[in-house]
Amino acid sequence: MFTDFDVAIAGAGPTGLLLAGDLARAGVRCTVFERRAERSGLTRAFAVHARTLEELDARGVADELVGTGIPVSELRIVGGAALDLSRLPTRFPYLLVTPQYETERVLEERARLLGADIRYDSKVTRFTGHQDVVEVEVREHDGLPRLFRAGWLVGADGMHSTVRKILGMPFPGKSVVRSVMLADVRFAQPPPDVVTMNAVGDFFCFIAPFGDGWYRVIAWDRHNQPPESTPVSLDEIRDVTREAVGTDFGMHDPRWMSRFHSEERQVPAYRSGRILLAGDAAHVHSPAGGQGMNTSIQDAANLGWKLAATVQGWAPEDLLDTYDAERHPVGKQVLRQSGAMLRVVLTGPRLLVGARNLLAGAATRIPYAARMLADGASGIGISYRAPRDAHPLTGKRAADLPLADSRRLYEALRDGRFVLVGGGQFPPNAIDGYGDRVTPVTPAAATGTLTLIRPDAYTAWAMSTTANQGAPDERAAEIRAALARWCGEPARTAPQAVASR
Ligand SMILES: Cc1cc2nc3c(=O)[nH]c(=O)nc-3n(C[C@H](O)[C@H](O)[C@H](O)COP(=O)(O)OP(=O)(O)OC[C@H]3O[C@@H](n4cnc5c(N)ncnc54)[C@H](O)[C@@H]3O)c2cc1C
Repeated sequence: MFTDFDVAIAGAGPTGLLLAGDLARAGVRCTVFERRAERSGLTRAFAVHARTLEELDARGVADELVGTGIPVSELRIVGGAALDLSRLPTRFPYLLVTPQYETERVLEERARLLGADIRYDSKVTRFTGHQDVVEVEVREHDGLPRLFRAGWLVGADGMHSTVRKILGMPFPGKSVVRSVMLADVRFAQPPPDVVTMNAVGDFFCFIAPFGDGWYRVIAWDRHNQPPESTPVSLDEIRDVTREAVGTDFGMHDPRWMSRFHSEERQVPAYRSGRILLAGDAAHVHSPAGGQGMNTSIQDAANLGWKLAATVQGWAPEDLLDTYDAERHPVGKQVLRQSGAMLRVVLTGPRLLVGARNLLAGAATRIPYAARMLADGASGIGISYRAPRDAHPLTGKRAADLPLADSRRLYEALRDGRFVLVGGGQFPPNAIDGYGDRVTPVTPAAATGTLTLIRPDAYTAWAMSTTANQGAPDERAAEIRAALARWCGEPARTAPQAVASR
C-alpha cells in the first residue's frame, strides 16, 4: 500500500531523535513531527550515564558529546557517602554532566546527516491505525490539518503523549513528590564539588553545572509544597539551599525558575499493532538517579534496528515484540529504583536519617555492593532475558574490545549491522546470505568465544570455542541457527552497502 514514509515519529526529544537517526541509517524513510517551533534551549536532564555513552559510541557521536560536558567519576549520594564510577569496565567510567539540549543537538545533527526528515511546528493531533498503514493527522504552522500515511507510528512525544492518549493506553501510577523547585543560576562562589547533593531534615538540594558558568539547582522543602502554578522566588531557593548544604554559594541572576511534580507511571505495553511507545511516553519516574533520558535513549536504541528490520522485511516473526519484552522490565526496574532512591534521599525523621547515612556509607565501601550500585546507576548492568541453556554472555551488554584491524568493536557497530566476533574460527561460508546484515570481525587477541553482537551492542548469541575445538561444521551449523533466530532468512541477492556515521 502507498505510504508517505515508512515510520512517522511524534516528538523530537532525545528518544525520537536517536530513533530517527537509526532508522535513517538503515535506509528507512522516516519523518519526525515536533510540535515546538524550534529546538529547545532549556534543559531538564543533565546526566548522561556510561551505558548511554556506549550506545552513542556505537553511533560515532559519543566523543562529540563528551566534549560538551564535565565527567564526574564520584557520585556523592547522602551523608557524605560516595559512589565510585571510575572502575566501571567501560571507555566512559563516569557520569557526563551536560545539558539536554547538547544531547539533542548531537542526535539531531546525526539524524539529519543520515537523511531523517525532522519537521518543527508540526503537531500530531490524531491518527487512525489500519491493518497495513497508520493515517496520521498533523497540524503545521498554518494550523491546517494534513493527513500522512505511514507504515508505523512511534509515540516519542513525552510524558503527556498525545499518541498514548489517542491509543487509549492506560498510564497507571501516582505522584511521588510535589512542588520541587528548579532554577538555572550563577554563583558568586561556585560549589567545590562538580555535583553537590544533600538532604537535611525537611530540606533537599541538588546542584550541577552546565559547564558554561550556569548551574542547575533543584530544591525541595517538605513543609512548603504549593501548587505547581505558584511562581518560584530566588529567595525561596536560596533558603532551602542554605538549609540543605549550609550555604547558597552567592546564588544570583536566575535565567529560568520553575516548579514541577514528579510521577511514577508506566504503560502496560509498549506496542499496540502498528503503534509503538518509547521514552517518557511509555514511562516516567522521579529524577533521582538521572535515569529518564538515559532509559529513553536506550529504548530507542533497542527499537530502531528491530523496526528497521520489520520495515525491510527481514525481521524474524517475533523480533519487534522483543522490544516490549526487553524494555518494559527495564522501565519497571528504573521506576522501582529511582522511587526507592528518592524516598531514601528524602527520609524525614532524624533517627532514620542517621540509619540511612550509615547504610549508604557501608554500601559504598563494600566492593561487591558498590559495584552493583555503580552498574545499576550507570546502566552497565542492564541485560536481557536469555534461554536457560544459553551461553552466559547471551543477553548481556557487549563489552568493547580491540579488533585485529585496529578498530574497536563499538566502531565496527557503527553501520548498524550485527557483528560476528571470532573471525577465522568458523568457515567463511557460515554467514553466506547475511552479508547485508552481519559484519564478521576478528578480535585482536583470542577470546575463547564466538559472539554475535546485536546492533544495540547486546550479545545475541555466544559459543565457547575452547569447548568446541575441532568441530567447524558444528560451529557453522550453530552460527546459522543463531543468524536465522536473529537476522531472519538469508538473502538471495548480492549484499548492499549501508551508509555509516
Ligand atoms: C527536572 C528534571 C530533571 C531531569 N534530569 C534528568 C537527568 O539528569 N537524567 C536523565 O536521564 N533524565 C532526566 N530527566 C528526564 C528527561 O528529561 C526525560 O526522561 C527525557 O527528556 C525524555 O525524552 P523523550 O524524548 O522521551 O521525551 P521529551 O524530551 O519530553 O520529548 C518529547 C517531545 O515531543 C514533543 N511533542 C509532544 N507532543 C507532541 C505532539 N502531539 N506532536 C509532536 N510533538 C510532540 C515535545 O515538544 C518534545 O519535544 C529529568 C526530568 C526533569 C523534569
